[in-house]
Amino acid sequence: MEKYQKLLPFSASIGKTGELEIAGHNVRELAEKWGTPLYIYDGITLKEKIDSLYKLGAEEYKGKFDITYASKAYLSLGFARHLASLGVGVDVVSLGEMKIAGMAGFPPERVHLHGNNKSEEELEFALDWGAFSIVVDSLEELAFLEELAARKKKKMQIWLRIAPGVDVDTHPYLQTGHTASKFGIPIPDGQAVRAIEWAKGSEWLNLIGLHTHIGSQISDAKPYQRAVRMLLKIAAEADFVPQQISTGGGWGVLYRPEDKETKERDWVAMVADALHEECAALGYPLPQLVLEPGRWLTAQAGLAVYRVGFQKKSREGIHVVAVDGGMADNPRPAMYQAVYCALVVERPMAKPIQKVNLVGKYCETGDVLIAGVELPEVKRGDLIAMPSAGAYQLSMASNYNMAARPAVLWLEPGSVELLQKREDPSDAGWWVDAQ
Ligand SMILES: *Cc1c(COP(=O)(O)O)cnc(C)c1O
Repeated sequence: MEKYQKLLPFSASIGKTGELEIAGHNVRELAEKWGTPLYIYDGITLKEKIDSLYKLGAEEYKGKFDITYASKAYLSLGFARHLASLGVGVDVVSLGEMKIAGMAGFPPERVHLHGNNKSEEELEFALDWGAFSIVVDSLEELAFLEELAARKKKKMQIWLRIAPGVDVDTHPYLQTGHTASKFGIPIPDGQAVRAIEWAKGSEWLNLIGLHTHIGSQISDAKPYQRAVRMLLKIAAEADFVPQQISTGGGWGVLYRPEDKETKERDWVAMVADALHEECAALGYPLPQLVLEPGRWLTAQAGLAVYRVGFQKKSREGIHVVAVDGGMADNPRPAMYQAVYCALVVERPMAKPIQKVNLVGKYCETGDVLIAGVELPEVKRGDLIAMPSAGAYQLSMASNYNMAARPAVLWLEPGSVELLQKREDPSDAGWWVDAQ
């Protein structure tokens, strides 16, 4: 269990019965009450992560510092309410995320609208609502937004998302800052400088910041420094003094005990240092630094719980253990070759004695949750916990094989709150007679 402690929610412990507990709640009992697959969020982890990042920002950066949560990692109304009360801002990329943020109590000035192809409806909503900024992703969007703002006679505050041409060491699908990325305004052919000059001269746009997001699950802070220098360089070329600079999110987390540890202080300190240096060299006042963590804030707070079903030895002698979830609630292994670890809820201290392929129940060969995971002996009915389950699992979940999305709980000592009801298949579109 100790070796999993750094992956599990901060409030994880072993109860008197020897079973896994989160925030003092017995996980087996929760699974019995709410069914499996079950997702659990630990309120303590989320709060401590937010507090510690604000503290790091204050310690390492000499200017103003803020955090906006990238809500695509996971969002539901109840979760958004907790986030709003913890003081962070929020990044949204769709009308749905924007509306949930509003319903949850985020004031519009804490909301940033991102996305490479925002619809007119989304832009209009953000403009009418008074979102803090729209993060413009292309020259064409800039022109479109200017026209929309002029038509509505409403000046819109914007950031520009720049493609910094920075490569990072992560899965190709998680790289977003390279020159071939679909995200951001490219620098080399002068588009980025042109966008800044255009926005500066616009009657209906108020350019206040520059933004970049170089990728996800990153453990080396140096590319962030290159991104900062690139942003300041083109700002200076366009004679623009930004009030805000955001280097996006992307800081990585551990999924297995053997994964290389990532120090968030390095991330904050190296971004801060680059900004201190560049601004001093240019004679610019320090802009507000905005970090946009998604995965780093929520992954460790989340725990997925599955029940073991049937087992077999495959022809190659591989021991296959099936659980009652899989790629429908967690597509990351199939999409990104993500590798997780697992422990047994009833016996978290039990020594692993075998390597198994922990597979899901869906009709895809790729529906393997963890290939070759070390587990103690398990039998049908046992519960498996997968740590680091709080980011990009449920938010990417599907109804494949007409699966119902799992129930989601928010735990604090002494309270259990239902964030998301287990989906009722009869509410789903395919059960309803569309005639
Ligand atoms: C996805 C995204 C993030 C968050 O990325 P993480 O890897 O989850 O931290 C931040 N900013 C933008 C613009 C994003 O698209």
